[in-house]
Amino acid sequence: MRYCRGCGFPVPYGRFLQWTSDGTILGKDKGRTRLVYLEVDEMRHLYAGVSSWIGVPIDRIIYRAEKEVGRRFIETLLPAIISRMPRGHFRPEWGVKATAGYVLNYMSGLGMGHAEVFDYQSGRSSRVRIVNPHVMALIAGDAAGVFGNLERVPVEARWERIKTEEYYLYIEKEEGAQATPAIERLGLEEKGYLPGKVEFDACKCGVPLDVTRNIYLDLEKGILVNRVTGLREVALPVPSFDAVFREFTREFGADLPATMEDLEQEYARENSAVRYLAGTRGPESMMTILSDFPWRGIGNPVAAGPVQGGLQVVIENPFHAGVVAGRVAGLYEAWTGTQVGVSWQEDAPGRLRVTLTQ
Ligand SMILES: [Zn+2]
Repeated sequence: MRYCRGCGFPVPYGRFLQWTSDGTILGKDKGRTRLVYLEVDEMRHLYAGVSSWIGVPIDRIIYRAEKEVGRRFIETLLPAIISRMPRGHFRPEWGVKATAGYVLNYMSGLGMGHAEVFDYQSGRSSRVRIVNPHVMALIAGDAAGVFGNLERVPVEARWERIKTEEYYLYIEKEEGAQATPAIERLGLEEKGYLPGKVEFDACKCGVPLDVTRNIYLDLEKGILVNRVTGLREVALPVPSFDAVFREFTREFGADLPATMEDLEQEYARENSAVRYLAGTRGPESMMTILSDFPWRGIGNPVAAGPVQGGLQVVIENPFHAGVVAGRVAGLYEAWTGTQVGVSWQEDAPGRLRVTLTQ
């Protein structure tokens, strides 16, 4: 891995990612995959919260949702980073094994953990050791996507925990299932984002200094660490987040979205570093506590101001409307030490208005 001499950011990722002026981070792949920096504990809090709300384990649901997305993610996002993917029909077993290892290791650059391919029998099975997965069920879904895509056979994955933050992942050909159809191309369909005026101080490599001041890649461990908070982070494809959210809603019904919002609000309230922010109180300072949204790819905060009985905040291009509303409320609570009610609506596609009330 090469690192930028100016800012220390890993070069392949810096070349591949674009921090836009509208509060999004987009991959330069065919699908223009959107990424968002989230705390690993935050994701685990959301998933564990849903699991205890429902009262059943949800790992297989997360896995299933990600497996579908993982295939597309592997098909479009990773090859854009990895220019040396073997192509064509000739796929010797050692080549596929090496490629699988190579792909999985590139996931470590996004903070998804470290993978080591042990056994590999082409078209049949594989065993992979995963250390420090951000969320094991997501990695399993991605890995099933990688192998299914490389081998063109339907696969199933299961995993067992060896010790804390270390797992064996088993991938096996799914007997009796239909052959995996070639993945439909995502096409060049550009998702429309509302234009914004975010400006970053950037390194000559193009990566905003806000990012490198905050995020450090420990490639060996496959983790991203926030230098300021000390917490672990991950650069997550937004389609993954959406797919799992959709699957949860399908499985658990209409109350699920509100539950996820509450969980996000709770997490931000309990864990955010904004509580340490000195400074004045008031609507204008509200923008300050949202100032990491653009470099994280969470969205573009464009306005905050008082309304009757509360405070209103407008975020454009939120990576997820409900969860971002929950985050805004939780940050406000952490910052002020009070608890608030929250409601939100989308005035137009991509324009989220959050109202906080005492
Ligand atoms: Zn740089």
